[in-house]
Amino acid sequence: MKKRVRDKDRSYWVKKAQEVFNQWIRLRDDKQPCISCGTRGPCQFHAGHYKTAGGHPELRFEPLNVHKQCAQCNNFKSGAIDQYRPRLIYRIGADNVKWLEGPHPPSKLTIDDLKGIIKDCKAKIKKESEHESNTEIREAKEDY
Ligand SMILES: [Zn+2]
Repeated sequence: MKKRVRDKDRSYWVKKAQEVFNQWIRLRDDKQPCISCGTRGPCQFHAGHYKTAGGHPELRFEPLNVHKQCAQCNNFKSGAIDQYRPRLIYRIGADNVKWLEGPHPPSKLTIDDLKGIIKDCKAKIKKESEHESNTEIREAKEDY
């Protein structure tokens, strides 16, 4: 897409922001099993919304609402929400789950907001990756 057109296309930026946000969620939850079935793989993992982005656009980029989930639960079991909930309560606490389920003011993110989310997530990804490589160096040293 031409840059000029792209810059005004909100859906393009929503998609872009979702990609980067999901990438960060998978890194954040790297050590966690699937939020729904508890598998640690090997399998493909996605970032799975508790409250769907379609039904609750105001929670689309809410870190409490999105957790690492195996592809099976995410794609074929409609998010496996029955199993999602108890693990979610365990991880973020009942109050936060209640808050997610409660009413929220509608949000309409602007393209600038979305660009902000992208920048923010990229910084978090960078931080997580740096931490990851530091860990690797430490572990490698301990081998000798
Ligand atoms: Zn699963």
